[in-house]
Parts: sequence; structure tokens; C-alpha cells
Amino acid sequence: MNRMSAGLGMAGSLLLVACNRAPTAGPMDAARLTAADADTAAWMTTGRTYSEQRYSPLAAINATTVDKLGLAWSAEFDTDRGQEATPLVADGVLYTTTAWSKVFAFDAKTGTSLWSYDPKVDGARGFSACCDVVNRGVALWGGKVYLGALDGRLIALDAKTGAEVWSVVTVDQSKPYTITGAPRVVKGKVLIGNGGAEYGVRGYLSAYDAETGNLVWRFYTTPNPDGKPDGAASDSIMAAKAGATWPDGVWKTSGGGGTVWDAMAYDPDLNLLYVGVGNGSPWNRMQRSGGKGDNLFLSSIVALRPDNGQYVWHYQTTPGESWDFTATQHIILADLTLDGKPRKVLMQAPKNGFFYVLDRTNGALISAKPYVGINWATGIGADGRPIENPAARYEKNFMIVAPGPFGGHNWHPMAFNPAEGLVYIPAIVGGFPYGDEGTPTHHEGAVNLGINLLLATLPDDAATRAAMKATLKGQLVAWDPVKQEARWTVEHPYYWNAGVLATAGGLVFQGDAEGRLAAYAAKDGKQLWSYDAGNGVVAAPATYSIGGEQYLAVMVGYGGAAALFTAWALPNQPRLPGRLLVFKLGGTATVAPYPRPAPVTIDLSTVKPAGDARAGLPLYNAFCMACHGANASGHYLPDLKTSPTILSPETFKSVIIDGARTAKGMVSFSRYLNAGQAESVRAYIVSEARKAQAEAPSGKPATGK
Ligand code: CA
Repeated sequence: MNRMSAGLGMAGSLLLVACNRAPTAGPMDAARLTAADADTAAWMTTGRTYSEQRYSPLAAINATTVDKLGLAWSAEFDTDRGQEATPLVADGVLYTTTAWSKVFAFDAKTGTSLWSYDPKVDGARGFSACCDVVNRGVALWGGKVYLGALDGRLIALDAKTGAEVWSVVTVDQSKPYTITGAPRVVKGKVLIGNGGAEYGVRGYLSAYDAETGNLVWRFYTTPNPDGKPDGAASDSIMAAKAGATWPDGVWKTSGGGGTVWDAMAYDPDLNLLYVGVGNGSPWNRMQRSGGKGDNLFLSSIVALRPDNGQYVWHYQTTPGESWDFTATQHIILADLTLDGKPRKVLMQAPKNGFFYVLDRTNGALISAKPYVGINWATGIGADGRPIENPAARYEKNFMIVAPGPFGGHNWHPMAFNPAEGLVYIPAIVGGFPYGDEGTPTHHEGAVNLGINLLLATLPDDAATRAAMKATLKGQLVAWDPVKQEARWTVEHPYYWNAGVLATAGGLVFQGDAEGRLAAYAAKDGKQLWSYDAGNGVVAAPATYSIGGEQYLAVMVGYGGAAALFTAWALPNQPRLPGRLLVFKLGGTATVAPYPRPAPVTIDLSTVKPAGDARAGLPLYNAFCMACHGANASGHYLPDLKTSPTILSPETFKSVIIDGARTAKGMVSFSRYLNAGQAESVRAYIVSEARKAQAEAPSGKPATGK
């Protein structure tokens, strides 16, 4: 726990420099993790400390030396999907994960590979991953490394050898659950949640004994649809409070959502574990619970006792959420001076666009202000509830609501610099057209949002599309949580940028969608250094020191939800192998430039699908859009408009109906589509491909930069 108040930051850093003689060794246990802030050599848990500030007291790399920052070593991985992990470093070893839940251990000084582990996740599991087959990293405890695998397994590995020690299945694998988040370990319990709310699951957090893998407790975030107790830690609060907030609706079959897929933080002094809870399933509350009820604990921050999962308090950011406004975003604990008094606060910038400062002892709202442009609410009332714009619930008419489902801020970690008193937010500016679906549709096991996805289809007119694209952008916002206002903002042309690191060197590090890793001055946002990684960056960097030298490590590899769904608004990043780049002052290592694949064109002149493109459009939107993008704009999984698969009905059917590419994550859709419907989907994709070719006759890709 970082006990420094903002005013004591400088004295604190001097003290910590004095502590930077040698890495703290010894077993990874409660004492060592609780004191993680003083162990400047290491980065032992995903947010660096239990407070998850992602602030390092290391200062050798600073505003005056950063121009000498160069590559120390690098590694390239065997997957070209999104890379979201924050590397961990302890006792001279760097641990990271890649897409498909693979773990790698390196000598943190030299980059020598020590071991790797592949849980061999079935490629078909990719179908249930809304947001790419990513993984955000491991946890360390007692000589073991803990991994949450995409297919719902929690796996303990020997930290020295990578050998599997135990493995447990944490979800019903017949349902579309996934795990992408990093586990945390508190008091000998490994904490892991899951994802899948877009597909119809019931969210929960589990605690497993770190030594044995036995389940210790589970906390469900939505009521049991059958009305009975679960025999879980959540039973009493469900009966007393949450259950009554769920009137009848399709949640009884969809599970309600509320998945705990990313944020956690822990205060050892208060013995409170803080958990961020996700969106409803389906998104549209009109379907989910008849348009009524707050639907606890959707979109809430919940405080639990880590020992037994007992509920202590909650704060719901978006009661009755209907927009995918998760509160799973990064949670930061800090001690701020407010009105002259020290306060123990919890800070979050959830998707709904408000920056919240809560009293973390009891969950009381201290303040909340929008950190990006919003139109769904005008503020937060004295009762702690948003003052909603009634039209934003899209019950009668559609509305372009800001923020959209990617949020004002998504999973990309923030960072807090206590010396500057600033939280650095990787923010997203833009909106999304929400409209009621009308007649509800439900596709078991597939994406079910309860909204009219035809509204997300792009108009043919290129000028209108360009205007839409111009409304979407990214920002790095330096937010003063005391004044609840931005001190400075860096503008990014694209909106799916990387997580953030802050250091006592007065620097903020952030990568971007186009592949630049940059260092900004913590106080004013001036760019002081940048490096072209050659591939989009979405992960947050970590920093550590060995032998008195400070290192900066970052995973490179573009991907994630936006790369799939709204490729039309993003740079045209090809799929390139993930890399780990590690920098130090005076580093002179080099890495080969990525080979850029040549643009692909296909000859559509003789292609005449028998299907009806107009009938194919709603089918495409229902089953294909989540991974291949609106208007088949995706160029990531892969670009269907340039795929030879669409050239013949036989080839298309072999993939869509017969499942020829199941191992790569493209499962058979024969549960949902017959051969005639598949041919209509092909007709629709061919019509979009023809439009793209007409716009870009030179053969250059028709989307992106
Ligand atoms: Ca979601």
C-alpha cells in the first residue's frame, strides 16, 4: 500500500532510492507483496502493488536521461493476436503471457529464455472470446506462477521450471466463459474471475487455495436464476439486497452477465478486496429485466473480505446499465488530501465516462466528474446515482450515446503519480448508435446484445463514413482527482491505444495503436522520447532494476475488442507476431523490422453468389460482426473482403457450415445458419468487397490509413 500523500511524494522517492540497493529476496508471500512499493527492483503483481497504482519509484530513466533510452533485448512470440500482458519481474526473472494464454520466463537482464508453458487451449474456444484471445498476465506467490487460461482453467506452475503443479477448471466449460484477466493472490488465495457477458453467462469471482488449488469461496455478482441459494459467499447479500433488483426478464436464461474480467485491488490495512463488475447480459435492460431494476451488482465496485468472500460494501456506477458500461476498469487505491484531510480513496474511470473518487473504507461517493465528453447523463446526484438523459435508454428512438460500448476508457491500465497528484487515463472519445432490437432474438451461446445492430452498419457514402471516423479518437488524459479536472491531454488520432506506466523519473510511458511507444513529461505531457515498435501497442509497460540499471519492458502486438469490431476506424495494422521489448539507458540492441505483408486483392469479376445480400446483412451482423467488423471492415480476423474464401460457395460453406477452420477459432455456424443463409452472408460480404474495390481501385486496402 502506498501511504505517501501527494505532498510527500518527493521525500518518499528519496527514501526509496536509498532502499534501492538490492532486490528484496525471499519467498513471495503476504509480507513481500504488501511491501512491494519499497521493492523498486521488482514488479511482482500486475498493478505493481496491491494498490495497483502502476507507479514505480525508479528514477534513473528521467526527463533528462530518457533520450538515451535504447533497446536492451527483445523476444518474438509464436502468436500474432493481441498482446495485453503486463510483465512481472521478481528475483531477476521476467514472466509474461501472450495471446492463447501462453507463459514465458526470461532472465530479466539478458533476455535468455528460461522456460515457456503452453496450456494448449482448444482453438475453437476463440469463438467465445468477445475481445480477442488475449491474456493480461500472471500472478506470483510461494514459488509458483498462476495463469488464468482462455478456456477457464486456473493453472499453477513451478516458477523455476514452468512445470505444471496443479490445474483446476473454474467455469462450466459447456458455457461461453473465457478468462483473459490476470489473477491476484491475497493471503494465500488466488483470485480469478471470467468473461462472457456478451454471450450469456453469470459472472462471479472465485478464490482458490494457492497451494492446493481447492476452491475456498465464490462470490456471484448476479442472483441465481432458479431463486435458490448457491451455497456461496454471495448468498446472504443476494437474499438481502441484490435479488430484489432483478425483475423478471431474459436474465433468467442469459445469467445476467456481471462478469469480473479485469480489475481488482487490495488494502491490507482495511483487509478489503475491491472488485470491478461488468455489464449486463444482454446489454438492453428492456430485455434483461423488463426495463426495470438496478440489477445489482452489474457495473459496480464491490468490496469483499478476501478471507471468505463476505460482502462489505458496493457502489454501482451505472444502475440498470444498458450500454455495456462495465465497471471492470482499472481500480487504483491512494491516499489523497481532500479539504485538508487525508482520505483513503479508491479511483476508477469506468466505461460510463465519469471519474469516481470513493471513500474506500465504506464505498461513499466523494466526487465524480466526466473525464471525456458524455451525453447519457448530466452528472452524478447527491444520492450517488447518475442524472440520466432519458433518451439515452433508447426505448423509443435510437440515440448516438457517448461514450459507446468501448467506453470512455476500456481495460488499458491507468497509472497514478502521487508526486504530481495525477491519474493518467488512456481515454476514448466517441459514441455509438444504440437502438432497441424490437422483436427480441436470442442465439444460444452466440453474441446477444438486445440492440439493433443494423444501426452499427456503416453508410455507403464515403464522406459520411469519414465524418463518423473523425468523431472517434484517443486521448491520454492527465486527471487531477482532487480538482476533478484534466491538467493536460495528449491527442491520439486513433482510439485503441495502450495502457500507461508512471515513474518517479517524472515520466509517463504509453504506446499507441500505430506502434509508437512514447515517454511524456508527467507534469505537462510534453513528448520527450519515442520508439517505433513497428506494430500496434495496447499493453501497459512495466519497469524494474537489476544491478543498479533501470529497465522498461512492454509487450507489443495489436489486437483486442476494437481491432475486431471497429477496424474501419483504426489504423490498418496487419497481424504481426507479438514481441517483448526491453529498454535501458544506453541500450544498443536492435530488432529486425517486421516484414509487412503485401496488400492482397482478389478477382471478383466472375463471382456471382446465389444468395441475397440484403438477407445476408442482418445475419452477418448477428453472427459475424463481433469478430469481423461492421460492413466486413475487419482486417484482423482476417479481412473477409480480400479472403479467397468468398470466391466460391463450396469453400465458403466448408468454413461456415463444415467448420474447416475450427482449430483457428473459426467454428462451424451450422447451429445458427443453414447453407442457404450462409450463401446470403457470402453475397453480402461480396457486395461489401466490391464497394471497397471500387473505392480503392489501386488495390490498396480500402480501410484505415
Ligand atoms: Ca462487455
